[in-house]
Amino acid sequence: SIVYLNGEYMPMSEAKISPMDRGFLFGDGIYEVIPSYDGKLVGFAPHIERMDQGLSFIDIELDYSIDTWRDICETLIEKNGGGNQGIYLHVSRGTDSKRFHAYPDNIAPTVYAFSFEIAPAPKPEKGTVKQYKVSSTQDLRWKRCNIKSTALLGNVMHFQQGYEAGNNEIILYNANDEMTEGSACNAYIVKDGTVITPPLDHQILPGITRLMLLDILRKDGSIKVEERAVTMDEVRNADEIWLTSSSKEIAPVVELDGTPVGDGKVGDVWEQAQRLYSAGKYDY
Ligand code: PLP
Repeated sequence: SIVYLNGEYMPMSEAKISPMDRGFLFGDGIYEVIPSYDGKLVGFAPHIERMDQGLSFIDIELDYSIDTWRDICETLIEKNGGGNQGIYLHVSRGTDSKRFHAYPDNIAPTVYAFSFEIAPAPKPEKGTVKQYKVSSTQDLRWKRCNIKSTALLGNVMHFQQGYEAGNNEIILYNANDEMTEGSACNAYIVKDGTVITPPLDHQILPGITRLMLLDILRKDGSIKVEERAVTMDEVRNADEIWLTSSSKEIAPVVELDGTPVGDGKVGDVWEQAQRLYSAGKYDY
């Protein structure tokens, strides 16, 4: 496939980054994943805004405008054959001559982007959607989960825990037994028709799918939405559990730690929410 590296397009096999890059040595960087279907990007502007905010949190200065990013994304989609593609964007602090923790003064950020084929977006149909089975465990990541850092070891280890238990995600909870998020997604419960998800703070990533979904649901008004702490007791007694991410959209969870969620089937509220999301997602 064709990738982008520091201003140039090239085959992936020709893209070379120094082993002294701080992205490699420290995971010192910020990334994004933006989905596109038939060449149309979903949530492009909010994704770029989140990346700019992440870069400013960690004091990486990069002079890429939103138009530059759009051009990179559209060029990668086109050069890699269109269809349904996810675009991965990665900015590390850059390459230094030595390994020293302090931010170096005069190095240029490394900017890398590639695209990859993604599955078609889920249809709002109970019969065809991928059903998720999840584990749960205490969230052992750091206290800055709002930063979309390329240092993902905590997330990788948690995902692996769920994977080794035969599940396809893992729901995390803090020391107060409150749900935070999944290892690569945001998490929600539905109780008596209301969608409930933890508020934005340092414990979770401010997901773009979350942002768009909550906005779409509030504008529509047919499903009530609450942002508040959710205890694991509530999670275990929920009617439905959902996960969201750019690649999943809204994913229904039918089993938690080997126990059926609600009646063990994909829920009605999920179907309505996915219908609204599918109809509204290109407006962002
Ligand atoms: N939380 C974590 C830890 C993630 O890695 C992701 C993204 O993959 C999300 C939440 C969902 O974010 P988004 O909807 O922007 O893809």
